[in-house]
Amino acid sequence: MSVWAILVAAGRGERLGLDRPKAFANLGDEPLLAEPLRRLEASPLVDGIVLVAPPGWEEPAILLAEEEGCGKVHACVPGGKTRSDSVRSGLAEVPADALVVLVHDAARPLVSDEVIERVLAPLFEGWDGVVPGLPVGDTLKRAGADGGVRETVPREGLWAIQTPQAFAADALRRAQADGAEATDCAGLVEAAGGRVKIVEGDPRLLKVTSPADLETVSAWR
Ligand code: C5P
Repeated sequence: MSVWAILVAAGRGERLGLDRPKAFANLGDEPLLAEPLRRLEASPLVDGIVLVAPPGWEEPAILLAEEEGCGKVHACVPGGKTRSDSVRSGLAEVPADALVVLVHDAARPLVSDEVIERVLAPLFEGWDGVVPGLPVGDTLKRAGADGGVRETVPREGLWAIQTPQAFAADALRRAQADGAEATDCAGLVEAAGGRVKIVEGDPRLLKVTSPADLETVSAWR
């Protein structure tokens, strides 16, 4: 079985307020992208990697992969306007004989073999996609633009979804083919009628959005 990872790193990361894309923000004393790259490279569960870089930053991304000795990186392509566009560009570089595609946000640097194992296992039971998630612990309310509460949403059965997300390659290709949009790949597979399962995620898979998140993730490394 061949497992290919698409590492999407093409987001601008405007909320970090830097002069460079989020993938090149400092995590400790190195670019954020180095951490997830190194972890996917070291994983015995991953056979190949496609890197999706911020447009115009392909060269620094390739250099970083070389510096880190990432021999599994077979292609580095520029990302698109939306996350779905970036995944589509990455998927085009995944070999046709790949059976499983793992899509991971570079903005969640602390990917581990434990989580990768958890998302891969159910694919053998016939699921089309498997995503890691954390049960929602806070009370959820829907509010209008004025902040006025419209309703309290029952949180039973609700999960906050993370990456890496694992897919049967053909299911992801079919779901991506029509140019649809979703905030995660699983949303596209679900919309195409695919069966997607949630497994236990990891709080350490925090998505870096703010400067404080960089500090937190850096301390957890
Ligand atoms: O923007 P968001 O927080 O959803 O980004 C999640 C991941 O998707 C990040 O790793 C980011 O680099 C990536 N992304 C991308 N191309 C975009 C937007 C986001 O590769 N156009």
